[in-house]
Formats: sequence, structure tokens, C-alpha cells
Amino acid sequence: MPGIDYYNLESDLSSEERLMRDTVRKFVTNEFLPIVREHFRAGTFPVSLIPQLGELGLLGANLSGFGLPGINNVAYGLVMQELDRGDSGLRSFASVQGSLVMYPILTFGSEAQKQKWLPLLRTGKAVGCFGLTEADHGSDPDGMKTRAVRDGKGYVLNGSKMWITNGSIADIAVVWAKLDGVIRGFLIEKGTAGFSAHDIKSKLSMRASITSELSFQDVRVPAENLLPSAEGLKSPLQCLTQARYGIAWGAVGAAMACFEEALAYSKERKQFGRPIGSFQLTQAKLADMLTEITKAQLLALKLGRLKDAGQMRHTQVSLAKRNNVRMALEVARTARGILGANGISDEYPVMRHLCNLETVETYEGTYEIHTLVLGKDLTGLDAVS
Ligand SMILES: Cc1cc2nc3c(=O)[nH]c(=O)nc-3n(C[C@H](O)[C@H](O)[C@H](O)COP(=O)(O)OP(=O)(O)OC[C@H]3O[C@@H](n4cnc5c(N)ncnc54)[C@H](O)[C@@H]3O)c2cc1C
Repeated sequence: MPGIDYYNLESDLSSEERLMRDTVRKFVTNEFLPIVREHFRAGTFPVSLIPQLGELGLLGANLSGFGLPGINNVAYGLVMQELDRGDSGLRSFASVQGSLVMYPILTFGSEAQKQKWLPLLRTGKAVGCFGLTEADHGSDPDGMKTRAVRDGKGYVLNGSKMWITNGSIADIAVVWAKLDGVIRGFLIEKGTAGFSAHDIKSKLSMRASITSELSFQDVRVPAENLLPSAEGLKSPLQCLTQARYGIAWGAVGAAMACFEEALAYSKERKQFGRPIGSFQLTQAKLADMLTEITKAQLLALKLGRLKDAGQMRHTQVSLAKRNNVRMALEVARTARGILGANGISDEYPVMRHLCNLETVETYEGTYEIHTLVLGKDLTGLDAVS
């Protein structure tokens, strides 16, 4: 059950990669799709599914050691594709947990931090969040105001973070703050005095995902909660490269869900006595959507093979994230049009995906920032700041 596969990419996948994809597709179809509409309406995340995500090995799936699944990056990409086919909020949960919480602990953490947190995060017994963005510093995280100062053997943190996925449900927050003018990563546990999280209720996008503001008022952090090997902006950016890789695949999943809905609808819906799929204008839309999805699939697959070979550059991830998310947004918007008035109803998944993809275009580096990353790579000239 490969879904849309016009160029027989199935033949380029190993049996393990296919199995992983099919397992996640089954989980999303049976467990998630029946409940996503209610969660999207209510603005809640289905926390009851978190243990299953752990049991299926979907949390930190491409990481190795400490009992982690260590699947290859193409299989991991297919997992992200299938989760996002359900909802970008579901994929965001797994992306944040794996790429933005487990990855930094594994990469920059002490042995004790790894031993303590990775088994809990892998099984979903603990949830994590990643606090980089501030209300006044999104694309420019280096301008962050959150500060840590040394105090005896530990640190004291003051500041706030905004738009943090999983913030209020997280047991552990990876928080980036400046210490002596240098960005460092701190592990802050839920319940630490002076640390609070409040959900952002105004969202019209990513409604089936928790997004919070984090606040730190004289939060005392023990010395052992500093990520010892993370130093400078390059450390959080390294985590974001991992997460953006997953987004490049996830966007394909959201686009596939919208395309499949539009295709089925165009064959059933009749106007002027004929299925709307029989009109040339509708067929042109379907042909364009298929073409763009196929190109994005090829891009994601090649990127995954490069990553597995240890040859992936972060600028290649920028290209794929930028292209695939914009592609998915356009596919979702075109699909919305094919469904006519039904396209705006949550009886169909299209508008939900379209709304979510507006976030995906903005977070983890906006479309514009990735454009400038590519511009700099091509010219050697920095146009960002
Ligand atoms: C639902 C959701 C979940 C999120 N989850 C997390 C999370 O878990 N952790 C976290 O740390 N952050 C998270 N974010 C924050 C996200 O990463 C930021 O929103 C993003 O980095 C953009 O920052 P901003 O919103 O402040 O926009 P701004 O940086 O203010 O940008 C506004 C506009 O200006 C443009 N712009 C900015 N600078 C330039 C420039 N130099 N050249 C050209 N154009 C420019 C941008 O492209 C954009 O179009 C989340 C956001 C959302 C919406």
C-alpha cells in the first residue's frame, strides 16, 4: 500500500523501509484518523496515543544507542510522511521528541543525562519540548533575551520562550539561553520552581498540537542539567537540521492526503451531469499536483540516501524543506478548490492540512530564511542580517 507512487519508488525501498511505512500507515488510519477531527476542533493533542508511538518505535526512531531503534533515515522519513498524512500536529509531536529533544541529549548530553532521559523519552513515558524561539526573536534566535548566570555550583535562568510545541505537557524542556554571551542548552524539568508553561489558545493552525509559552523566573538549574557539549547557535541549528529533514518528508504526506481526497472527490462529484474530474481544468489541476508530489518524493528519497551515506549538507535540507512545504501548501489549496464548499468543512481533511501547512511554512526556518540560506550557499554573500 504505497499510496501515490507514479514513478515506482516502491522498488527503491528495502522491505524494512516498506514495513515501517505500512506499520505507521495502519496506526494512523486505525488509531489517529478517527479522532483527529475532535482534537482539532477542541485544540487538544491525543496524549493517549503517546505510549503507542513509543511501542511502535516512532520516538527517536533514527537514533542509535541506549536502546533506540536506529532505523535508517529513509525509513524514518517514511514514518514522518505517514504521521503527517494523518496531521502535521502528530508529526510535530514525534519530530520534537526525536529530533529536538532526544537528539540534543544524545549528541550534546552527559552520560548521566542520556541514561536518565533517553529510555523515558523513547517509550513515551516522558515528553520533551525544545525552547529556542522568543516572542521577539524567531528568525533571529541569536538575539534571544533569555539569560543564565552562574550561581554557586548551578545556574539561574530568567526569560521566556514562545510558540513551543508540547510545552505544557513536557516533562523535560531543552531550553536555549545565553550564558556569558554564548548560547547554551539547559534541561529544565517540569515542576522546577519559577518555571511555568501556558498554552496558546488563539491558533487557527496546528490545532491538534499543543503550543505553549514558557516562562522562567529565577529558575535554579543544577550544574548537571547543562548540556555539556552544546555551545553557540550552531548547536540548536544542528538539531533543527534533523527536524527539517523530517519535515521535508512530512510535507509529502500531507500533500498526498490532500491529493487522494481531491482525486476521489473529482470522480464522484457531478456537476452539469458529469463528474467534475471529467473537465479538463480539473484534470490539469490533478496532473500538476501529481507532478509536484512526485518531484518532492524524489527529492526526499535522494536526501534520505545522502543522509544515510553521511553526505547530506544542511543547505540541501533547506532546499527540500523549502520546496516540499511550499509544494504541499499549493497542493492543499488546489485540493480545497476541487472540493468546492465541502473543501472548507472539517468533514474532509483538506482544510485542516492547509491550515497546518501555514505553520509548517513558518516554523523550523521560514520559506524566506531557507531562500536566503540557498542564496548564501550559491553566492557566498549573506543576505539574512
Ligand atoms: C505552531 C508552531 C509551533 C512551533 N514550535 C516551536 C518549537 O517547538 N520550538 C521553538 O523554538 N519554536 C517553535 N515555533 C516558532 C517558529 O520556529 C518561529 O515562528 C519561526 O522561527 C519564525 O519566527 P517568527 O514567528 O518570530 O517570525 P519572524 O522571524 O518575525 O518573521 C516574520 C516574517 O519576516 C520574514 N523575515 C524575518 N527575517 C527576515 C530576513 N532576514 N529576510 C527576509 N525575511 C525575513 C520571515 O520569513 C517571515 O515571513 C513554532 C511556531 C509555530 C507557529
